[in-house]
Amino acid sequence: MNQKRIAIFGSTGSIGKQTLEVIAAHPELFVAEILTAHSNESLLIEQALQFTPNMVVIVDVTKYAIVKKALEGKPIKVFAGEEALEQVAAMDCYDFMMAGIVGFAGLKPTLTAVENGKAIGLANKETLVVAGDIVMRKAKENKAAIIPVDSEHSAIFQCLVGEHNNPIEKIILTASGGPFLGKKPNFLVNVKRDHALQHPNWSMGAKISIDSATLMNKGLEMIEAKWLFNLAPNQIKVVIHSQSIIHSMVQFEDGSIKAQMGLPDMKLPIQYAMAFPQRLKNSFPRYLFDKPNQLSFDEPDMKTFRNLYLAKEAMEKGGNTPCILNAANEIAVYAFLRNRIGFLEMTELIEKTLEKINYISEPTLEDYFETDGEARNFAASLIQL
Ligand code: NAD
Ligand code: MG
Repeated sequence: MNQKRIAIFGSTGSIGKQTLEVIAAHPELFVAEILTAHSNESLLIEQALQFTPNMVVIVDVTKYAIVKKALEGKPIKVFAGEEALEQVAAMDCYDFMMAGIVGFAGLKPTLTAVENGKAIGLANKETLVVAGDIVMRKAKENKAAIIPVDSEHSAIFQCLVGEHNNPIEKIILTASGGPFLGKKPNFLVNVKRDHALQHPNWSMGAKISIDSATLMNKGLEMIEAKWLFNLAPNQIKVVIHSQSIIHSMVQFEDGSIKAQMGLPDMKLPIQYAMAFPQRLKNSFPRYLFDKPNQLSFDEPDMKTFRNLYLAKEAMEKGGNTPCILNAANEIAVYAFLRNRIGFLEMTELIEKTLEKINYISEPTLEDYFETDGEARNFAASLIQL
């Protein structure tokens, strides 16, 4: 059987590292062909030495010489710079892209892979939040399969297998509630970065951990789901399920609800996307029913966690609004991670940016790039240095 040739965009991140673990566990099925990293050259070198990919990309050009020297004599091509990401994304040498870059930066290479008809394991939800209409349209035109990796969307995708002709009535996106579930603004106002980074159920990269703490992550996931499954906003419901055992649900037109369950472990949706439609045997820990346990469901507190409300509104408004929301959120999260702004100020920054940037009802790709730039500049101007 031919091995599937995998390109991992963002191999040094949380998704990227776990993708390499899946490859290492199934060398007969998968081979790492391309690895890319932003600036963590030492981990990229370590990964390249272990997996001997055909090529690597280090986005930070100042690290090129170090990577090149470390891989001297190995059959590994080394590229550097942002444009190199798109160039390698267009190459014939791989079959499946794991889109594991964080943020807007993932859009261009993912779009290039889509235009080249590649299969894509989509972890980079921001790609769909920003330009979901264009990405999904191009995927259809180029017969590029987009298989969700985000655990909620993987759950929905799994629930839909075999239901091709059965319309969705509603999807129920589950949310853990993050580290500050049940907290009120008087508590949140004093929250610091290290506390916000401690997610109760998942270990993830810094940006998505903060998004989980503010519930922006669930808002981005509503928009992601809208595009992936072609839904109207009123077909998407968010439910707080703090145990993170049910990863999401689909309700069909007969009222029947299908759920996908398991312990929270991103390797599962990663492996599922890579091997789809096959399921691969593994020894990951199992959820056990041998002791009393409860699964709970609750309404999200959108008054306290206003980012979720803003994202829901942005989804309903459409056009370039989710793109503005995403850009302002990226600026806000990185400012919070650098202790420049407080936890609740992130929401204020996003709200002000949403008010400021012009609405475009049917944006082109260029409009999205312009909107992203404008929104970032405006949001950054609000932060006192
Ligand atoms: P991370 O911060 O751990 O890793 C990000 C990766 O992207 C790194 O390899 C980094 O080098 C690369 N990168 C960062 N900025 C870049 C840039 N400007 N240009 C090129 N490469 C860049 O992030 P993560 O937690 O692995 O998340 C990756 C994506 O997957 C995000 O969109 C996130 O929302 C999504 N996701 C992650 C998880 C998770 O468990 N970590 C779960 C669901 C979805
Ligand atoms: Mg998720």
